[in-house]
Amino acid sequence: MKKIIVIGSGFGGLSIASRLRSNGFDITLIEKQPDLGGRARTFFHEGYKYDAGPTVITAPYLIDELFSLHSEKLSDYVNLLPVKPWYRFLFDNGEYLDYGDKLSTTIKEIKSKYGNDNAKSYIKLLKHSKRIFNKAFTELSDEPFESLGSMIKHLPELVRIRFDRSVYRAVDKYIGNVNLNQALSMHPLLVGGNPYSTTSIYLLIQYLEWKWGVFYAEGGTGKIVDALEKLLDTKEVEIKKNTEVRKIILKNKKVVGVDTTEGLINCDAVVCNSDPTYTYNKLLGYKPNKFSNNFNLKHSMSLFVLYFSTKRIYKDVKHHTIIFSKRHYDLLNDIFNKKVFVNDPSLYLHRPGATDPSMIQNNNDTFYVLAPVPNNLSNINWNERGEELSSIIISTLEDKLIPELSKNIVDSFYVTPDYFENELNTYAGSGFGIQPIFTQSAYFRYGNKAKETKGLYFVGASTHPGAGVPGVLSTSKVTEKLILRDYGNSK
Ligand SMILES: Cc1cc2nc3c(=O)[nH]c(=O)nc-3n(C[C@H](O)[C@H](O)[C@H](O)COP(=O)(O)OP(=O)(O)OC[C@H]3O[C@@H](n4cnc5c(N)ncnc54)[C@H](O)[C@@H]3O)c2cc1C
Repeated sequence: MKKIIVIGSGFGGLSIASRLRSNGFDITLIEKQPDLGGRARTFFHEGYKYDAGPTVITAPYLIDELFSLHSEKLSDYVNLLPVKPWYRFLFDNGEYLDYGDKLSTTIKEIKSKYGNDNAKSYIKLLKHSKRIFNKAFTELSDEPFESLGSMIKHLPELVRIRFDRSVYRAVDKYIGNVNLNQALSMHPLLVGGNPYSTTSIYLLIQYLEWKWGVFYAEGGTGKIVDALEKLLDTKEVEIKKNTEVRKIILKNKKVVGVDTTEGLINCDAVVCNSDPTYTYNKLLGYKPNKFSNNFNLKHSMSLFVLYFSTKRIYKDVKHHTIIFSKRHYDLLNDIFNKKVFVNDPSLYLHRPGATDPSMIQNNNDTFYVLAPVPNNLSNINWNERGEELSSIIISTLEDKLIPELSKNIVDSFYVTPDYFENELNTYAGSGFGIQPIFTQSAYFRYGNKAKETKGLYFVGASTHPGAGVPGVLSTSKVTEKLILRDYGNSK
């Protein structure tokens, strides 16, 4: 039986471990942290439980597949609760828009706030998004792009759907209101992209949400991670926590093992769920051929995330509130390109208790609020500026949504880009891997299989098709195909 080591237990690592194990491979999953999940892990602080990262669960069939491969059902482990509405968008002029859950209600809401023309245009935009979805998600999200040629055959349809336009421009073609445009083009931010430079292929997320809905895992996203851990455990995947891989060992350009903080482990192949830029720099010590010549990869922005609990329960605060700053283009330019500290961030507020009463803990409300910030290629010293940004965020929430919030906080802590860089080993503390721009998509992304080294594979946010839970789960479908092609089924 072939032995494969998976480095990292984000959704990428957990899903490839499940897939390969169902094909009979002997799998060892190695995680640096004391718990599994990577960006989707759970934080416990002063008796409160917080989702560390993803909370918007879409395309749940991709998670279910990981269980059905072993003749099990996700629903026997986790209850997925529909979120209603999916998002409340709150604009700088005090206007808000409730979006998602029922299409008819959303259209009505757009019509009442932005007029009939914009409501009709939204339906047209959604049709456009569906067309992109049919090509880019249904057809291509699990296809390995191993050569430029494999991309070229899809070019005519990509040209027709105007991949060259940014998401913002594509939405702007349909929508005649600035606030509505900002709201409907925000999806790239969920996968690490600037709406002004992310290829409009990512408009597919808009339709993907309508196709399967938006969910929250009862008890927190960590319940999905726990369920996957239990599944892998019962299927005899060896799980090593608190173990960091320090080197991938090669012999004659072939992977033969890994050197970890707990000693050497031999194997036939390695799947890296660790960030590829970090992996090439630190664990391999070379650059992939494709990127070695002046190829300057652009990494996503990072995140400042403040976790807090309050002694008051804020029943009027929706599950996902996106609070737009007055500045939009310039703010994103400061974060993505100029990489400077911003003191007027846009915010995404998560209040799980709105959907799941079990997340009201000790009779207190729990939250996280997230601000996109520059990655660590900036010169920001987060030890010095962290408190400042935390205060700015709390006063913004007080001004715009939760008066007297600071008086009601009973627990709080935050993570900065340093957490992503030092704890999760992402290059420059990027929150989402490499950016979803066209020149970093499909073949131009990190390969799911390394060309220059035998037995070296990748899954996760920086590989094809990309970041976000559905994207990352799809990366492991691509990588599974490549491994089965190389090694056959190991049963
Ligand atoms: C705050 C936040 C909110 C988000 N919200 C959403 C959302 O609502 N919906 C959504 O779909 N997506 C969301 N995302 C994006 C989504 O969470 C990520 O795209 C996805 O979880 C990334 O998974 P991954 O497997 O690629 O990597 P990761 O989760 O980063 O996993 C990589 C793992 O590798 C481990 N590792 C690294 N190096 C080593 C080593 N040398 N040895 C051993 N282990 C190592 C790390 O510790 C980590 O556990 C969010 C992301 C963040 C950060």
